Amino acid sequence: MVFRERKSGRTSSSLEREKGRGGGEMGRLFVVTLEGKIYSCKHCRTHISLSEDIVSKSFHCRHGKAYLFSKVVNVTVGEIEERMMMTGMHAVCDIFCVGCGSILGWKYETAHEKSQKYKEGKSVLERFKISGPDESRYWVGHETPIGSSDADDV
Ligand SMILES: [Zn+2]
Repeated sequence: MVFRERKSGRTSSSLEREKGRGGGEMGRLFVVTLEGKIYSCKHCRTHISLSEDIVSKSFHCRHGKAYLFSKVVNVTVGEIEERMMMTGMHAVCDIFCVGCGSILGWKYETAHEKSQKYKEGKSVLERFKISGPDESRYWVGHETPIGSSDADDV
């Protein structure tokens, strides 16, 4: 998990490998496949988390809405740093997609305020960086009407 990438993310070699996606045996990072209502990277569709892992949809980041997830997969984390958030001081690290290296959000390592401790170990994903289950339904074909109130897009 201590695989560090530069802030700018992608290297030319990882882009090269991206082309080989779906080929079966790839000399790339092991990618976990999720099942269910999947949230995935908007750029490369790597699976990141499930709607059942959403803890809260009422988070905000510089760019708008963000969701708090109890667990995420297929991500690498940056260096831990102290950041002042609206809810107090937190030790956080950025989260990057393993597929394309784009930054997806951040993870809370430590919350200094007692009332914020529930966030420790959880991850915030910026909504516009990820594709939700309702959008992916459109890619497959939208014969199924959306029943849930999950389609809360910006
Ligand atoms: Zn990606």
